[in-house]
Amino acid sequence: MESKRETLMRKPAPAYGKLKDGEWKKVLTFAEEYKSFLNAGKTERECVAEALRQAERHGVPAYTRHNKAVMLIRRGKRPLSDGLRIVAAHIDSPRIDLKPYPLYEKEGFALLKTHYYGGIKKYHWLAHPLELRGVVILRDGTVVTIAPGTDEPVLFISDVLPHLGKDQEKKTVIEAFPGDNLNVTAGSIPDTEEKEGDDRVKLAVLSLLHQKYGMTEHDFQSAELCLVPAGSARDAGLDGSMIGGYGHDDRSCSYAAMRALFDCDPEYTAVCVLADKEEIGSEGITGMQSAFFDAAAEELCAAEQTTLRTCYANSFCFSGDVANAYDPNFADISDPQNNARMGHGPCVMKATGRGGKSGSSDASAETVGKTRRLLDGAGVCWHMGEMGKVDQGGGGTVAKFLAMRNIETVDIGVPVLNMHAPMEVVAKIDCWETYKAFLALYNDR
Ligand code: MN
Ligand code: MN
Repeated sequence: MESKRETLMRKPAPAYGKLKDGEWKKVLTFAEEYKSFLNAGKTERECVAEALRQAERHGVPAYTRHNKAVMLIRRGKRPLSDGLRIVAAHIDSPRIDLKPYPLYEKEGFALLKTHYYGGIKKYHWLAHPLELRGVVILRDGTVVTIAPGTDEPVLFISDVLPHLGKDQEKKTVIEAFPGDNLNVTAGSIPDTEEKEGDDRVKLAVLSLLHQKYGMTEHDFQSAELCLVPAGSARDAGLDGSMIGGYGHDDRSCSYAAMRALFDCDPEYTAVCVLADKEEIGSEGITGMQSAFFDAAAEELCAAEQTTLRTCYANSFCFSGDVANAYDPNFADISDPQNNARMGHGPCVMKATGRGGKSGSSDASAETVGKTRRLLDGAGVCWHMGEMGKVDQGGGGTVAKFLAMRNIETVDIGVPVLNMHAPMEVVAKIDCWETYKAFLALYNDR
């Protein structure tokens, strides 16, 4: 018999005590596979390429747009008029993009001008190994992919030495690190063929790029090149319980969603949406606001003489996005009773947004009720949270863009430390429990 206390009181508990026999081994295997995904996908394009590889292996059809957003679909037994079971996550992560005319030379250095993408604390990205990734569309339309190997040289943004940091330290963070100062050091050897003249270091960098990729300075105009943290994801903590790496936001949910889609036995048609552009408002042709996603779903509906409206109205969606894990080092930004906790499984967020839930879709109690039944029914360790103290700030996800399509949607995702920093950290057990949560949705009966 449960005691009165056990019956009436509920407090989130760590997931470690709730695993079944032999489940820890699965947690660790899943973590290794997730790290491989992180290492394969450091840009949204690379994530799409990896998702397509894995989808093909599992015989799962995929719809893509500009190789930057992808929708994986597994047909269920029920008609589409009964709705979809959707997990929508995003595969873009904060990073530092190049400007259209990036390259210049100053005082013997070749430098690249940048414009950061997404919300970053700029000083995180200084004095940190970076690598250049992306695509260049050459004049004749040829697509050149830039994806350096692990043994290639890294790039970096320089910072002031502490010895001479007197003025820098007095400034506010915003004043000390203006966006236009985030110039990447790209070279320091003058061209060897030209013995004199200006910009010989710049020329040397251009001839290197020409040799390697067949590109000229003009080709930067039709390129999508960005700086992302160099190096691989690796275990974190002396106990190796966590993963430190770039892009957990939101590749941790993206990977969990994709894996759950491959592993599920769907009654309703299961859809995994991996969207781009979340970090800049889900805008654009590959963002969650794009009609691309509707066009793909509509095509399926048309084949069954069902309208997209009917299908959406009966659908249910998890907006899979990371939550900020409670950080004991910065306890004052959070309400400890209502914050995501690392090691406690995925965090369900009824509302996101900022300042009075502004910009949030604020899921209905019924939607959270169904979520609760699904997760408890599948033995998932989960909890609920809000993003920090009420007036501290906030954030958004793709949830509202699904909700406005008349799809019942709630936010749920992996708690993460150091969100948007070059090294974000998640707990392995949370990645696993999030996978179980997404699987529970896809297996909805
Ligand atoms: Mn996110
Ligand atoms: Mn984010």
